[in-house]
Amino acid sequence: MPKPREYEVTGRKKLAHGKGTRWCKRCGSYNGLIRSYNLMLCRQCFREVANSIGFVKYE
Ligand SMILES: [Zn+2]
Repeated sequence: MPKPREYEVTGRKKLAHGKGTRWCKRCGSYNGLIRSYNLMLCRQCFREVANSIGFVKYE
């Protein structure tokens, strides 16, 4: 289960940009987020799900 990061849940101020505006939809992490291809996953989660969502590792 991802950590709750929605503004309504956390009571945080809404930010236009910067850390805290985007988070991993899988684990809720703010670090190492991958926004490409509409992933919105952190790099750790991406590594875990990449194979199952059809990403192939190239050398
Ligand atoms: Zn993650």
